[in-house]
Amino acid sequence: MKVWPLKNTTLKNIPEKPSPGSFWEDREDRYHCGIDLYAPEGSDVVAIEEGIVVDIGIATTPKKISYWNKTYYIIVKNISGTFCKYAELCVITPKKGDNIKAGQLIGKIGLVLNFQKINKASPKYIQKLKNKNPSMLHLELYLNDPITSHDNYLGGNWFGHKKPNNLVDPTTYMKSILTEVK
Ligand SMILES: [Zn+2]
Repeated sequence: MKVWPLKNTTLKNIPEKPSPGSFWEDREDRYHCGIDLYAPEGSDVVAIEEGIVVDIGIATTPKKISYWNKTYYIIVKNISGTFCKYAELCVITPKKGDNIKAGQLIGKIGLVLNFQKINKASPKYIQKLKNKNPSMLHLELYLNDPITSHDNYLGGNWFGHKKPNNLVDPTTYMKSILTEVK
């Protein structure tokens, strides 16, 4: 069984190319490693599948980039064998090593960008988002070895044209949640 990761939402929209927030969206100097599911700050995020929490960490922090707020990620090894990285959350509820059920609360939606800190020196892509980028769940899907730190990886984006092989387009996976017979 799979569950849509945003609990209190009626609109189950999967952004597809070339929409903003789609997988491998070309952001001029970077590519988007996941899909963005927009939701109000503080909204509940639940696990898509049953699995085990294999990692929890800091997704963004103002210590690294001045216009970032602090947000967290949680990686679940799914019972189907893939890994979901749920990122840009302000709260994570389970602990590393916990077994979780599909539909179980794992965190709450955070807000990455601190608009007051975005200025002319910020990357063009970030300047365009000033005052209009809503809060979201940033979701990445991996076949193995989820990326948490790499020279080419920053804030859910990949600086390089060649997509890492272990990172996959979650669109089909997300569509399977909607079409699964309950
Ligand atoms: Zn994203």
